[in-house]
Amino acid sequence: MARPQATPESPGSRALVVDLIRSSGPISRVELTTATGLTQPAISLIVRKLLDDGVIVDAGTAPSTGGKPRRLLDMNRRARHGIGIQLGLESATFVATDTNGGVIARERLPGAGTEDPTMVITRLAAALRSFASAADIPPASVNGVALVVPGPMRMNPDVVIEAPSLPHWREVPVRAEFERALGMPVLVDNDASAAALGEFWSRGVSRYHSFACIYIGSGVGAGVVVDGALFRGASSNAAEIGHIAVATDGPECFCGNYGCLEVMAAPRVMVQRALAHPGIAARLRLDERATVAQNWEAISRAAVAEDPDAAELVTDGANAVGRAALTLTNLFDLDEIVLSGPGIATAGSIYVREVRTALRRSFARKTHLTTVDLSINPTDSAAIGAAALTLQGELAPGHGPALKFSGP
Ligand SMILES: [Zn+2]
Repeated sequence: MARPQATPESPGSRALVVDLIRSSGPISRVELTTATGLTQPAISLIVRKLLDDGVIVDAGTAPSTGGKPRRLLDMNRRARHGIGIQLGLESATFVATDTNGGVIARERLPGAGTEDPTMVITRLAAALRSFASAADIPPASVNGVALVVPGPMRMNPDVVIEAPSLPHWREVPVRAEFERALGMPVLVDNDASAAALGEFWSRGVSRYHSFACIYIGSGVGAGVVVDGALFRGASSNAAEIGHIAVATDGPECFCGNYGCLEVMAAPRVMVQRALAHPGIAARLRLDERATVAQNWEAISRAAVAEDPDAAELVTDGANAVGRAALTLTNLFDLDEIVLSGPGIATAGSIYVREVRTALRRSFARKTHLTTVDLSINPTDSAAIGAAALTLQGELAPGHGPALKFSGP
């Protein structure tokens, strides 16, 4: 991808330098100058400011190649902390990360359930304060908190969640209420977008890569990172891979389209299919009263253990994800795809295989490879992504909604 022209005055220069140190550090000033196209004095100025702010540290000298030894720069891992909350119906996950997106603490609590939303927010805010204090996170090292929920969502100045999985949270001014309860800035985003940014940030992916994360929970979502920033589209609902039609004669989806990936192959649909199949349901001891996650886990485990019916079911679903991933790849000319989310925590290998197979038909395959990998931490990936959203907003600003306190 062509590198954008940067100038020392351009607001993105600091973000550019932070992004390079994050993805390529330890790195010298000379390498930064070459990679950014900025002048040496401009790099010196930005680096000095980042050192003063404690965002980066001196990381010793590079092995000598004959000339003057070059000082190296790297991210200061414990300079700042990111805190992310993933809220679902069944569980809420807190994650705290260091500057590079490495997890330093994690806690799982009961989710939204049927409790009154204001009560849930009060309960989670109190729990979050104890969580941060138990993890020894100095309050001054946290710029804010990001909350992620299963998308799609409607964004407006109050950020009201309209997630299908949290039906009784409609019309709740979630961000304002969380900010009031926590006394600090809060960002609200959808899980798939957050997971994409989190994978991009914590895997050290270069901003010159076109990167996507396909996130599978009980549904299927995705996020795309272009030029180091989440591609959000007109209303933050970009990359809705779940609503790519994968069956021309498929059933109607809640979005109004027909044959969407979401109605053909989302885990919640696959579980319904398995429950309706007397052989599979009885053999795997699936239970209609259990959650989608519990039944899907049983099906995924059986598929990995080569139960023929379960393997066929999961492979069919993964194959449909592969076809949609091919469309996503062709649209964004992707370098890299990561598969993540609790839905692939057990049978991820089947998904990787099917997506890789589908990408052998990608439009640009003769020009470049599109790599497909599994997330290292698929279950917590959205919460880690939420933490990364707060870090990117602070350390490499100019890439999306920054944390700004809007409370009383
Ligand atoms: Zn749809």
